[in-house]
Amino acid sequence: MTQCIFCNEDEQKVFFKIKTHSFPYALQKCTHCHAYTLAPTPTTEQLDKAYNTGYYGEGEAKFNPIIEFGVNLFRSMRASRAVKGIPESGKLLDIGCGSGAFLNFLHKKYNLQLSGLEIEGDAALRAADQNKGFTLYTGFLQTTDFSKETFDVITIYHVFEHLLTPNEDLGKIQQILKPNGRLVISMPNIDSWQAKFFKDDWFHLDVPRHLIFFKPKDFKRMMQAKGFEIETERYISWEQNPYGYIQSSLNVLSKKHNFLYEFLKTNEKSAFGKRNLFQIGLHVLFAGITLPLFLLVDLFESLFKKSATVEYTFRYQPK
Ligand SMILES: [Zn+2]
Repeated sequence: MTQCIFCNEDEQKVFFKIKTHSFPYALQKCTHCHAYTLAPTPTTEQLDKAYNTGYYGEGEAKFNPIIEFGVNLFRSMRASRAVKGIPESGKLLDIGCGSGAFLNFLHKKYNLQLSGLEIEGDAALRAADQNKGFTLYTGFLQTTDFSKETFDVITIYHVFEHLLTPNEDLGKIQQILKPNGRLVISMPNIDSWQAKFFKDDWFHLDVPRHLIFFKPKDFKRMMQAKGFEIETERYISWEQNPYGYIQSSLNVLSKKHNFLYEFLKTNEKSAFGKRNLFQIGLHVLFAGITLPLFLLVDLFESLFKKSATVEYTFRYQPK
């Protein structure tokens, strides 16, 4: 058994074995803190390999222009939720800012002091290149030297599940967020119907990049113990969840894991070859036909808090 990366306890139960990856990982459940973690914890080499194969997409956009249009629309809705009620020229930090598109959007629309943090690599280089008005920091959260109680808002969108030291990173957030500051954090929902139905074919499992998952009730309890009071939890996400259904279904049907996703995020379409392009056509057709259905399914699931991802907003009230 692998130690829990959240609480360091040894007592783990295998939740399910992962057969869809060439390396025999398993998802284990911690009997102590109830975190679900990838076991064994990937080595630095395994992670480097997983992130280096075009994970962030190439060139300007992460996805092709049509999808990028949709992403921008959802980005603007996310932005207004994150900064609602924040004072003029308040300070916001986006942890795992990628190429900085969210921060550039905020800069255009709001008068805020913006910072972004990204690990060294292609995304950080692109963030520096495309920076329209934020301070970019590179490296891991643990090694940054932000002053105590600096930020009014910290956002961490679909990054928590990638962290190797998630508990320590939450500790750092407690230090640098102002009392009564806001933390917006989104992540896959291991208690979702998608996760339960698809198991190791689930798109948001994303082996070996996603290292940790929590059921919402366990996550909120743990956060409350750290002084984070829940303000809102949002389960519906047309940005994340319907695509999760499409790709997870395709993973079951086609055996080529995340094939459509890999195609969508690369600009080198020619690398896929003629035979693959025919298959891509079938996958795109499947996506087009099923998308309306899965949009409705997400709406329905969100009523029961069983959607594939969740976005929490917390107020930090240190005790
Ligand atoms: Zn644990």
